[in-house]
Amino acid sequence: MADCIFCKIASGEIPSGKVYEDESVLAFRDLEPQAPTHVLIIPKKHIGSIMALTGADKELAGHILTEVAPAVARSCGVDEGGFRLVANTGADGGQTVGHLHFHLLGGRSMTWPPG
Ligand code: IMP
Repeated sequence: MADCIFCKIASGEIPSGKVYEDESVLAFRDLEPQAPTHVLIIPKKHIGSIMALTGADKELAGHILTEVAPAVARSCGVDEGGFRLVANTGADGGQTVGHLHFHLLGGRSMTWPPG
C-alpha cells in the first residue's frame, strides 16, 4: 500500500532495526521502545489489522504465533523471563499504524491492566 509506513519498512524503502526476516514476515525494533525489548512483528503484505485477517491468512497468522514470535523472543533473550505479545486493534485498541503488527515487549516486569 503506497502510503503505509510499515509497507515501506517491509520493502526496505525505509530502514529499520531488523531482528528477523523471512519470505512473509519482518520483525524490527520499535522507534519508541516501551521496554528494553520492544520489537514489532509484521506481515510483509498489507493487512490493516486483526479485523482484516481472512481464512486465507491462517497459515501466515499461525506462522507468526507459532514460529516467528518464539524465535524473536529467543533471539532477544526474553523467552525465559517472559514477554508480552499484543496487537492493538482499532481506535479504542490504541492502534496508530494501520498495518497489522504485534508488539513483542520484554526485559522488564509488565503490569496489568494496560493503560
Ligand atoms: P500501534 O500504536 O499499536 O499502532 O503501534 C505503532 C508502533 O509503531 C508504535 O509503537 C510506534 O512507536 C511504532 N513506529 C511508528 N513508526 C515507526 C518506524 O518508522 N519504525 C519503527 N517503529 C515505528
